[in-house]
Amino acid sequence: MDGYWQAAAACAGLPPAVVFARKPKDAAPALRACAVCPVRRQCVSAVAPAESLFDGVCGGRLWRNGRPAAVPSSSGSPRD
Ligand code: SF4
Repeated sequence: MDGYWQAAAACAGLPPAVVFARKPKDAAPALRACAVCPVRRQCVSAVAPAESLFDGVCGGRLWRNGRPAAVPSSSGSPRD
């Protein structure tokens, strides 16, 4: 399996509860990691969130059942 990219994942040290969070608030640390992650493209290719009906953070987005979930902006109120 081509998992070499996972060693470079910015979220590698985060707990699964954060990476696979369902709520934007819980996912915030993982989303911040995505912003500086050097392997975003590989992450999205490997996880294929839409096809796998993924729940959690992948490629800078929070996904629910394979669809991008609304995430409140850092300064605004939730619009979810
Ligand atoms: S893009 Fe985000 S979820 Fe994917 S490996 Fe990087 S930090 Fe982790």
